[in-house]
Amino acid sequence: MAYSYEAPVSQSLFDRASVVTPGGVNSPVRAFRAVGGTPRFMVSGAGPYLTDADGREYVDLVCSWGPMILGHSHPEVIAAVQEAVSRGTSFGTPGEGEVALAEEIVARIEPVEQVRLVSSGTEATMSAIRLARGFTGRAKVVKFAGCYHGHVDALLAAAGSGVATFGLPDTPGVTGATAGDTVVLPYNDLDAVRAAFAAHPGEIACVITEASPGNMGVVPPADGFNAGLKELCAANGALYISDEVMTGFRTSKAGWYGVDGVRPDLMTFGKVMGGGFPAAAFGGRRDVMAHLAPAGPVYQAGTLSGNPIATAAGLAQLRLLDDAAYAKIDAVSAELRSLVGEALTKEGVAHTVSAASNMFSVFFTDRPVRDYEDAKKQDVFRFTAFFHSMLEQGVYLPPSAFESWFVSTAHDERAVERIAAALPAAARAASEATA
Ligand code: PLP
Repeated sequence: MAYSYEAPVSQSLFDRASVVTPGGVNSPVRAFRAVGGTPRFMVSGAGPYLTDADGREYVDLVCSWGPMILGHSHPEVIAAVQEAVSRGTSFGTPGEGEVALAEEIVARIEPVEQVRLVSSGTEATMSAIRLARGFTGRAKVVKFAGCYHGHVDALLAAAGSGVATFGLPDTPGVTGATAGDTVVLPYNDLDAVRAAFAAHPGEIACVITEASPGNMGVVPPADGFNAGLKELCAANGALYISDEVMTGFRTSKAGWYGVDGVRPDLMTFGKVMGGGFPAAAFGGRRDVMAHLAPAGPVYQAGTLSGNPIATAAGLAQLRLLDDAAYAKIDAVSAELRSLVGEALTKEGVAHTVSAASNMFSVFFTDRPVRDYEDAKKQDVFRFTAFFHSMLEQGVYLPPSAFESWFVSTAHDERAVERIAAALPAAARAASEATA
């Protein structure tokens, strides 16, 4: 498909990048392959806006894939970073910032009795699974199709996010032995989980699930699904791991736990808790966490874990996320959902706006979406047309039909008006699109 607008500086940067970096990007979904066109190279962000290398401004509905929940360049976060950086960038020793960030997480999320800081969500889920295996002495891990937990070898089977975007059945480089201990089940299907426990008695170390999935588009858990998982894990001696890398500190003050109250054995966090820096964490039951080195035998480490700049940014961001901030984000999300729905309805485009608290995405189908198979049945070509029309009009959406849209406290009336003004033409483009 050809697009009527150009981004010459981004294109020349992409050409340069493609020489020295595979596919020209450092994370696949950024390459725009699912939607075509030139990926925008951003140079700055302020509040709800991003500015690209060609000098165009966009209302940002990606928010760095979740972390920028206060918008870009929030003055208090920037000040905390500047203060921290003036004292040095990494010490390789413990520091007070790590303690304060861990205390903040423990205070907010009641099932987290102890927490270990790492640098990415991938590290958090990888380490949580190792710990679950070490704690239970079992090998098998249950995950759900369409859930993405980072690029951990054992968890790449039927993963969402970029894996969904590119339709990869699995990933070369993951050995049969590694994938062989992963049991992949359809999402929202407790009978399948029951059957897996029956088929592998005493072998399943843990069930890991996105607390509320956002990586196949937003597909919230059906009523009782997470509670059922917890119950089945408890009955079968397995740990229930809730991956809150995306939902944590976003869907409420206490993340998705704050919404459904189902108490996990272990939880993983990332994105929002780093304030735009590489900080992530896993934590949970004290007796389980006690198995982690140096307290226990399960090894886990990191040169930059608890980095002072990242912890300062994360702590500053979390401290600003009070009830009023969540009320604001929830309200903006609700307003945008209804504006998008109205625009698509007006043009007769089949769609479902799917939300989990303030996370949402649009499926271009009017059939209910309960799992990954349902999500894949949408008219992706309509999303592509919609995406490019929005981009051309200065609204930056995730460049894939299988991702959540994110808003921030900085999305004010002006930003919402700009989105609203772009929607009619984008809805028309979606309606006129052909497969
Ligand atoms: N878990 C979930 C639910 C995620 O959404 C992601 C990233 O999108 C990850 C884990 C991996 O986090 P990271 O990209 O920081 O490695």
